Amino acid sequence: MRTVADYFGSLVFDDRVMRARLSADVYKSLRKTIDEGKALDLRVANAVAEAMKNWAVEKGATHYTHWFQPLTGVTAEKHDSFISPSPDGSVIMEFSGKELIKGEPDASSFPSGGLRATFEARGYTAWDPTSYAFIKGKTLCIPTAFCSYGGHALDKKTPLLRSMEALNREALRILRLFGNKKAKHVSASVGPEQEYFLITKEMYDKRPDLRFTGRTLFGAKPPKGQEMDDHYFGVIKPTVAAFMEDLNDELWKLGILSKTEHNEVAPAQHEMAPIYTTTNAATDQNQLTMEIMQRVAAKHGLVCLLHEKPFEGVNGSGKHNNWSISTDDGQNLLSPGDTPYENVQFLLFLCAVIKAVDEYQDLLRIAVATAGNDHRLGANEAPPAVVSIFLGDELEEVLKAIETDSPYAGTEQERMEWDVAVLPKFRKDTTDRNRTSPFAFTGNKFEFRMLGSSNSIACTNIMLNAAVTESLRVFADELEQADNFDEALHALLKRTIKEHKRIIFNGNGYDDAWIREMTENRGLLNYRTTADCMPHLMDEKNVKMLTSLGIFTEDELRSRRDIMLENYCKTVTIEANTMINMVRKRIAPAVIRFTADLAHQMSEKRTLFPQLACACESELIVTLSELTDVMKDLTASLEEAVKGLGDAADVIEEAALIRDRVLPAMEELRIPCDKAETLTEKSYWPFPTYGDILFSVK
Ligand code: ADP
Ligand code: MG
Repeated sequence: MRTVADYFGSLVFDDRVMRARLSADVYKSLRKTIDEGKALDLRVANAVAEAMKNWAVEKGATHYTHWFQPLTGVTAEKHDSFISPSPDGSVIMEFSGKELIKGEPDASSFPSGGLRATFEARGYTAWDPTSYAFIKGKTLCIPTAFCSYGGHALDKKTPLLRSMEALNREALRILRLFGNKKAKHVSASVGPEQEYFLITKEMYDKRPDLRFTGRTLFGAKPPKGQEMDDHYFGVIKPTVAAFMEDLNDELWKLGILSKTEHNEVAPAQHEMAPIYTTTNAATDQNQLTMEIMQRVAAKHGLVCLLHEKPFEGVNGSGKHNNWSISTDDGQNLLSPGDTPYENVQFLLFLCAVIKAVDEYQDLLRIAVATAGNDHRLGANEAPPAVVSIFLGDELEEVLKAIETDSPYAGTEQERMEWDVAVLPKFRKDTTDRNRTSPFAFTGNKFEFRMLGSSNSIACTNIMLNAAVTESLRVFADELEQADNFDEALHALLKRTIKEHKRIIFNGNGYDDAWIREMTENRGLLNYRTTADCMPHLMDEKNVKMLTSLGIFTEDELRSRRDIMLENYCKTVTIEANTMINMVRKRIAPAVIRFTADLAHQMSEKRTLFPQLACACESELIVTLSELTDVMKDLTASLEEAVKGLGDAADVIEEAALIRDRVLPAMEELRIPCDKAETLTEKSYWPFPTYGDILFSVK
């Protein structure tokens, strides 16, 4: 029998294949590029291209593509076949090092936020050897970065790679200060837990809102929702189990370590978590995972919804970003470690994260800002839009002890000696679980929970890598100048804790009182919507940090802000137009038809039995007629609000109009429609209800 081990990674040009198919010296120089970021020469590229092509053709591939991630948020690919004509009329399969390294897709239709004039339509894709090539269908996919003719990054991968390089540089400086001469490379890793909904294709096809916008724009609360909490970790239904089995097979073939799967809290909601890997590979793999989830779902007559809030009143979907940094020799720098010496180093990295999250709260919020995720943050299933850190009681006590120069007061058996530079040792497993914190320390990694389910994880990890790099840079600058390292280190930790402890919060992040405490007393930022936070990408401190570390240019940042805001405006405008259309063409006519039939039946009844009051019918007729009148007015108001967007001077103003006019008008219009749904006889209702959809999969 074929086991998983036999086909795991069979569609990936991974280390095993490289080792087997490349000459020793080519393999060695490629590994140097992958592991240490060394430049690659054309001779090596040619040899790799030849081996890659032969391998892919043996696996049935006919085409290759430079696979990249433009700012649309999805992946892009343009296929070229390997064929090249031979003089005798036959073809040979060819693929050169040049073709491997560089591509020139026409970039004019990808968003550039003003970075590229249309006459300079050329864009370049450049091979990213740190993420393995793979085969999808009959195409060899080569992960690439994408930039404009002028060299500006037009994608998510370029700044991500830059942020990883910066982190490596500054983290190594810190390690050297601790006497570590061995580590050659430091990289950030992430394990993204992916949530999603599965519904039947049949239900999906009947809902224009799902088809056009990915979420339901109407729908009354079903009689049974998630109240019983009976879905979480519940028995997986056969159709879902078959889907998961297929999904795992597809992911495993692509070398994606799909590890954990279970039902989530909401009915029809599920989760998949892969084993963590570098932020770069994890980003590519997560994009692929989302694509494959949708493809596999289709094969099973299902649709996989990746939207952050497909159903109102039901938990939305997020993507928990489990993040850590480690050395090439396997030391996790966020692991408290066994010896006090490691403890101190850990505390320094911990403080770097605390400082980073406090100083760049806004960047973390911005990284997860989309129209979809705005519905989820601050609802009862997701962290609020205010960023804070959960450390757990023990670590908080340790930090307090350092800050106040007092002995660490653990219990007798927990208590640690103060043997190195008055810094405490403590137990390794230091945290309990807190599910409500946006940024929780979970033993040897941080779990950032604000990311939306459909988002690329690139932006989050760019900002996280960047902000922590900045802390490490400042720390290294200070410590490298110190005469007495231990003392300087202690002073630095103490000061950092004092300055940034406001960001630490161990309580219930869903609590309103806490939101007030955070924003009113601690001065933490609360950007509720994308329109609120996105303009702050260009705040001076953010531009300064991101440009000085070489992660973005100022132009790239401005273009990203504009693209993200445009995306927000377009998404909501499509939703608003879909709503108007659904009310006018489907909902109002259905309710009117039901009301007319009721009136007709009532009048017949009265003819036969003049003595009857027909209170039920008449009341219903009145209520429904009033509701359709309200629908008419509110549809007109929404239409006005959408028209008003034309007056905005720029995209920042347009986004504000979306937030202040369009979204509230949508919310209002929904109310009479959902009310009418509860009063209208089912056969008249033009779409499946929440109950129908959420319990559709058998
Ligand atoms: P839970 O839902 O209990 O938080 P899961 O098992 O669903 O846990 O997901 C945890 C994720 O964290 C997995 O993707 C796992 O690979 C990842 N992870 C574990 N250790 C680390 C680490 N040191 N750095 C980054 N990610 C990690
Ligand atoms: Mg999980």
